[in-house]
Amino acid sequence: MRVAEKVAIVTGGLSGIGVAVAARLARDGMIVVAADISTQSMALDRTLGIHPFRVDVTDQDSVATLVQAVMTACGRLDCLVHCAGIGRVLPFLETPLETFDLVLKTNLYGTFIVGQACARVMAAAGRGAIVNIGSVSGLRGNAGRAAYGASKGAIVTLTEVMAVELAEHGVRVNVVAPGPIETPLTATQHDADARTSWIEAVPMRRYGRPEDVASAAAFLCSDDACYITGAVFAVDGGFSGGGILPRSKRQETAS
Ligand code: NDP
Repeated sequence: MRVAEKVAIVTGGLSGIGVAVAARLARDGMIVVAADISTQSMALDRTLGIHPFRVDVTDQDSVATLVQAVMTACGRLDCLVHCAGIGRVLPFLETPLETFDLVLKTNLYGTFIVGQACARVMAAAGRGAIVNIGSVSGLRGNAGRAAYGASKGAIVTLTEVMAVELAEHGVRVNVVAPGPIETPLTATQHDADARTSWIEAVPMRRYGRPEDVASAAAFLCSDDACYITGAVFAVDGGFSGGGILPRSKRQETAS
């Protein structure tokens, strides 16, 4: 099958990492539905590259409407890259239950709801690729991430279960776990101190670009990844594999 015949849904597709993923998959020749909460839906037209569509990933009816619209307009769904998510940075002892609930609802329940709706049509067709966007905060204990880290850690386990159960239906499911990436989310959630801490903890000493995450997601969606499922791909400048790092130039200057 040529890539030009494929159809993808990218949730969170109108901001940050999602924009880069949608652009990359469209450039690779796919029809892309960029589904996000802060947009109006546009009539789906098979001849266009990227289509905005309104969805709330925490609402099963809203997600069902999205998947139905894609199937009606395109008759197929090949890829899902689930980028929609929110971040909150708060100490564990000060995290209100409401915040924990909101983050779990959006990040974890959203992954379950969207993944299940898309996997049902993919399994029926006997093929598909799902990429869930996790986080290095779901792999390591990062301060301030009680809610966020718990939601992203659970996404890894959910993905592994999906991969195991959907393998016989020809559907692959993987996680891309980004480190710090320059997006509207980090612009609001990372203050100057946080940015310094991240840069000192990342062996490559910089934030990543949304396009760096998009290339990993595009690979996992592609037939080049046909024997990869249930995997976690960190796109993090070496953060999650790191331990004690050489002193940075900034630290040397300060001491
Ligand atoms: P952005 O905030 O730039 O993009 C996330 C998008 O998801 C926004 O458009 C947001 O809309 C949308 N969204 C939020 N809630 C819902 C919902 N209920 N239904 C549908 N859409 C929703 O964030 P990033 O691009 O930075 O993050 C994308 C993903 O990558 C997230 O899952 C995030 O956790 C993950 N990630 C990001 C990292 C980073 O450093 N940037 C690092 C590790 C993981 P609105 O703006 O209106 O809320």
